[in-house]
Amino acid sequence: MIDPFGRHITYLRLSVTDRCDFRCQYCMAENMQFLPKSDVLSLEELEILCTAFIARGVKKIRLTGGEPLVRKNIMSLVNNLGRYLQDGILDELTLTTNGSQLEKYADDLYRAGIRRINVSLDTLDEAKFRHITRWGQIDKVLRGIQAAQEVGLSIKINMVALKGLNDDEIDSMLGWCVRNGMDLTLIETMPLGEIDVNRHDQYLSLQDVRDELSANWQLTESEYRTGGPARYLAVGETGRKLGLITPMSHNFCDSCNRLRVTCTGELYMCLGHDDNIDLRKVLRNHQGDRQAVEKAILEALTRKPERHYFTIDPENNRPTLERHMSMTGG
Ligand code: SAM
Ligand code: SF4
Repeated sequence: MIDPFGRHITYLRLSVTDRCDFRCQYCMAENMQFLPKSDVLSLEELEILCTAFIARGVKKIRLTGGEPLVRKNIMSLVNNLGRYLQDGILDELTLTTNGSQLEKYADDLYRAGIRRINVSLDTLDEAKFRHITRWGQIDKVLRGIQAAQEVGLSIKINMVALKGLNDDEIDSMLGWCVRNGMDLTLIETMPLGEIDVNRHDQYLSLQDVRDELSANWQLTESEYRTGGPARYLAVGETGRKLGLITPMSHNFCDSCNRLRVTCTGELYMCLGHDDNIDLRKVLRNHQGDRQAVEKAILEALTRKPERHYFTIDPENNRPTLERHMSMTGG
């Protein structure tokens, strides 16, 4: 798949549920209203979608959410997609998780062919963790990370940089990741969806963070790219990488290689635009016919925009987009 700007699309991020067992402040309101179950695609429908994308050249699939590991029977989808890895049709299957269910699933994920996962962890401080996630328990997450490492999964930690909340911990988080053999990616907050806190108050520029980290760490530009918004720095002699996702301060769209599908089957051509195509309608109107889905995907591709235009409006604290990150999974 090649879009109108010549970009090759090989990466699908698929949200498998809008539900979550946490309520991270920057992601959801505490009293989030979740979708009726009938609106959410069944695991079979999600699989048909994946096969349509794979047939059109997608080589990497990331499952996300909401929290992908709270979706009932999620392993049946993971195992079925894992077969495409064995056949060499898919290069990578991975997921982004809050880690709460990892202790339970780490082994199964590895057996299904997953080798790398992203775990979101914004702080190592128990009380702060509870404050940021509202409902999360850090010990469970840390046990999950340990279990994942024990079975052989590589882990990248995703940390959202939050002014006044965890900015004093970024240096020590990098140290913790390095000591435990994990990469770290820092993420600037993005203005998606109505939440209960003021985004402008939370926003922290990663350029400033990088300057501060440079006092203690030798950070050098790395050529490593994933076609996504992250830029990577090599961390001294440690062999580890520090990723910086800076949607607000930098443009990463030139090399975009991805499409996103929500758990209701909306195909978003860009995280920063509301334009989408309803693949659930196509699926349900055509009795799950994969070719009809492929046709719709190709049509959607012609509408992939050149770039996003995120802003946080400090005057009225309105998000750029109404949709929450838990719909498209980040
Ligand atoms: N529940 C899983 C997790 O937390 O890893 C997967 C879904 S979560 C929406 C994916 C990523 O998006 C997480 O790393 C989370 O920290 C990040 N995220 C959520 N809302 C965000 C926002 N408004 N700005 C920046 N990152 C956000
Ligand atoms: Fe849940 Fe992930 Fe959103 Fe936190 S960031 S509320 S864990 S979906």
